[in-house]
Amino acid sequence: MDSFIPVEKINTLLKRTRDVPLRDINSIIQKGISLKGLELEEAAALLQCTDKEKVNEIYCAAGSVKESVYGKRLVLFAPLYLSSTCINSCLYCGFRRENRVAERNVLTYEEVALETEVLIRDGHKRLLLVAGEDPARCGIDYIERAIEVIYGTRTEVGGIKRVNINVAPMSVKGFQRLKSTGIGTYQLFQETYHQPTYRRFHPAGPKSDYITRLFALDCAQEAGIDDVGMGVLFGLYDYRFETLALLCHVRHLEGEFGVGPHTISVPRIEPASNSPISKHPPYKVSDESFKKLVAILRLAVPYTGMILSTREDAIFRDELLNIGISQISANSKTYPGGYSRKDNSGNSSGQFLLGDKRTTSEVINDISRHGFTPSFCTACYRVGRTGREFMDYAKPGQIQRFCLPNSLLTFKEYLLDFGADNLQKAGEAIIREQLASIKDQKIRSATKKKLKEVEEGGRDMYF
Ligand code: SAM
Ligand code: SF4
Repeated sequence: MDSFIPVEKINTLLKRTRDVPLRDINSIIQKGISLKGLELEEAAALLQCTDKEKVNEIYCAAGSVKESVYGKRLVLFAPLYLSSTCINSCLYCGFRRENRVAERNVLTYEEVALETEVLIRDGHKRLLLVAGEDPARCGIDYIERAIEVIYGTRTEVGGIKRVNINVAPMSVKGFQRLKSTGIGTYQLFQETYHQPTYRRFHPAGPKSDYITRLFALDCAQEAGIDDVGMGVLFGLYDYRFETLALLCHVRHLEGEFGVGPHTISVPRIEPASNSPISKHPPYKVSDESFKKLVAILRLAVPYTGMILSTREDAIFRDELLNIGISQISANSKTYPGGYSRKDNSGNSSGQFLLGDKRTTSEVINDISRHGFTPSFCTACYRVGRTGREFMDYAKPGQIQRFCLPNSLLTFKEYLLDFGADNLQKAGEAIIREQLASIKDQKIRSATKKKLKEVEEGGRDMYF
């Protein structure tokens, strides 16, 4: 199979759009605001734009797209690392097989249950499972059982309702097994779409095969996993090229399967133990460029969720929420056992260092202060609003009928079960304000009724 990334075309576009007149930049920004998405050439023009005023307009436009598609809600999740063993040699990663200094382990099922319990008691309903590639110890049999353990773990404050996955690619058969465990999204990052760079940073192991990685999300779709997530590890190669290539990947999936990715992740390389490259990335992306690429992605694919992890620091993360990010992780640990272990000895063996070390309640406090509604909603995937069906709902703005009410119901539940007094007050004010903003009177009163039920002890309410 050949790569579907049109390298020549991307390079030509990047040359051709170096000096696009400001009036054309204006029309592209207007097109973005109208939720029509962007063509590759339009995205290239914005990526090349350096005019400060126009760049600020790009941020504002992205903010307005975010507001019309997602409103004020922000979905929260936590990563759960199943393993730190890996047969690959990704030069930027602390888990790579040559890194023998750090401790390596795969969680037992008992440990998986313990980690899950801690996360449930922290307020989480949605997890992202992460693992190194280790077919002998952490293959599909293990992953299947681990997911079963997670869904089966219950505490006095409920359980996990959605498990998303970020593990090595599988055969279509493997993906079919994964699908039947009831996963939400399957995520896989291409890391870099630039093939020579890919070869350089993935010198050995199954992951060194660029083409297999590139078509992995096709295999997942063929297996019936219709919510897939993609991403680039920013810092390995030129961010302009990577952003355009990522958009080509989006269009490829849309062409093949009638639906693009459910989410796009935007990790930037963070320092990892024994990885000199991670400390000095060859194409380090500045905060300014990073913010710009997030905003341009928001304009280019308005209906695709965008995920930001705790790799970024707290202040910068809060800034990015205004221009396009719709899902964030909180209180993350990047090594197996990180939540339930009493000591912090695993910190040094984490996959990479974290920029945002706030606890979940601190993150919730901060985002509420900035006017966002934290959402723990998992409704869409539980009622089958996934893949193309989800996009059909999202596109005409219908998702507002479900997402806003559901975010209020889950936030209310969080406040009652986990919220400290000061957060409860601020949270209730947000709920009142957001409730009043629901224009459809029928939906507003149905939401009010359900909120009352939550107050009276009802749980797991959704539309
Ligand atoms: N092992 C699987 C893989 O590589 O696809 C899945 C899990 S891997 C732990 C998840 C992601 O972590 C990778 O796709 C990579 O983008 C990211 N990652 C690895 N090293 C990193 C670093 N130093 N800083 C930030 N992200 C990193
Ligand atoms: Fe293994 Fe994934 Fe780390 Fe590469 S990025 S070394 S595949 S865990």
